[in-house]
Amino acid sequence: MHVPEDPPETCPACGDPYASVSRHDGGFVVNLLDNERYQRVCFHPVGPGAGTDDDGTFDCFHHTHRQAGTAAGQ
Ligand SMILES: [Zn+2]
Repeated sequence: MHVPEDPPETCPACGDPYASVSRHDGGFVVNLLDNERYQRVCFHPVGPGAGTDDDGTFDCFHHTHRQAGTAAGQ
């Protein structure tokens, strides 16, 4: 995985601000059950040719509890 060169200002999946974004072109695991920092991760497909030669590429946008608007951290 790597960080996209042209990340959007807000998450394209939900429209909220995000803390970090990473681009993936393979399988991986996201476990936020015990994550104190992040409330959710959104996935947004970028399709073939968008930064890699793989055709299964998508971006992962990490939202903190504060950014996701939950009670914790506000
Ligand atoms: Zn999002």
